[in-house]
Amino acid sequence: ASAADLVRSLTTTTPDFPTPGILFRDLSGVFADGAAFRTVVAAMAEPFAGRFDAVAGAEARGFLFAAALAHSAGTGVLPLRKPGKLPPPVLTEEYDLEYGSAELQLRTSVASGLRVLLVDDVLATGGTLAAARRLLEKAGNVVVGATVVIELSGLGGRAAVEGLEVAALVAEG
Ligand code: 5GP
Repeated sequence: ASAADLVRSLTTTTPDFPTPGILFRDLSGVFADGAAFRTVVAAMAEPFAGRFDAVAGAEARGFLFAAALAHSAGTGVLPLRKPGKLPPPVLTEEYDLEYGSAELQLRTSVASGLRVLLVDDVLATGGTLAAARRLLEKAGNVVVGATVVIELSGLGGRAAVEGLEVAALVAEG
């Protein structure tokens, strides 16, 4: 099966979670299936092959894909963390979520002058990727693109990361 078919068959969609009005995609089935996980991660990396020196993912689900993709590409991984997890020096970016608002932090000392690929499970409003991009650029890196498993096209997330190359395995209304 193709990566897109695997994502469609192994992902669940739950209405009104975690708050009313949110239609929540859960990718636990992809993580739990070794062959599917490997196929999905390879397909996420493919459009950017040879064009990045590091992968960045946002806590927590982004970590799973970012670490796997970095490991298979032989690059490092830059964890973008929730506040209070990393010791100083850190850079901070605040952003709005589909449900609530949040902050991401990057340990500055490990990331500068890199070509970075952003990785996440779901692209919704694009707030997370936009904050990740600002954070990494502030630290002196070049963000070469973003790769996600599912893009919720109706939320217009691509507009939040205008000018950035974005790859999605599955796009849903
Ligand atoms: P955005 O910042 O694009 O609005 O939201 C994307 C972030 O929220 C991602 O980090 C993603 O993990 C999470 N998110 C938003 N909607 C969903 C969803 O339906 N399922 C999952 N698993 N994560 C979501």
